[in-house]
Amino acid sequence: RARPTAAVSVRAEISYIMIKPDGVQRGLVGDIISRFERKGYKLTALKLYQTPKEVAEEHYKDLASKPFYKDLVNYIVSGPVVCMVWEGKGVVATARKMIGATNPLASEPGTIRGDFAIEVGRNVIHGSDSPENGERETAIWFPEGITSWSQTMEPWLKE
Ligand code: GDP
Ligand code: MG
Repeated sequence: RARPTAAVSVRAEISYIMIKPDGVQRGLVGDIISRFERKGYKLTALKLYQTPKEVAEEHYKDLASKPFYKDLVNYIVSGPVVCMVWEGKGVVATARKMIGATNPLASEPGTIRGDFAIEVGRNVIHGSDSPENGERETAIWFPEGITSWSQTMEPWLKE
C-alpha cells in the first residue's frame, strides 16, 4: 500500500525570546535584536507588551515554589517587555549560548547577560530552555499566532 506523502513540511525550531523590563528601560532593545538578526535567525513575531500578572505567572509556573518567584513576577510586570519569536536550526540552544548563564556574574563576556548585566534578578533577557518550551511559551505570549514568511537571504545562510 502506498504511504501517504506529507502535505505540510514541519516548521523549523522556534525559541521565545523576551527582553525584560530592565533591558527595555536601559535602551538595549536594538542591540539585542541586532544580535539575533546578524546571526541569521528568522524573526517570526515581535511586540512591545505590558504583561498582565497572570501571563507572567503562567510563563514562570514551573518556578512557583521558588523563594524568588514573587519578586520575579513583579519584575516581569514592572514595565513593558519586548516579546519575540526567532526561528531556525538549533535556535533554542544557540540563543541560550548567546544569552549567557542565568547569573550574569557567571556569563561569559560577549554574551548578552555577560555584556549587560550584573544581578540574576535583573538579567535583561529570557530565552526558552527547550524546543518544547519554545512552543509552549510562544503559545502563551502570542495567542494571536506568529508569522510564516520566507527569508530571501536563505540561500546565503543554508548550504
Ligand atoms: P533562565 O532560564 O536562565 O532565565 O533561568 P531560570 O529559568 O532558572 O530562572 C528564570 C528567571 O528567574 C531568571 O532569568 C532570573 O531572572 C530569575 N531567577 C532565577 N534564579 C534566581 C535567584 O536565585 N534569585 C532571583 N532574584 N532571581 C532568580
Ligand atoms: Mg528558564
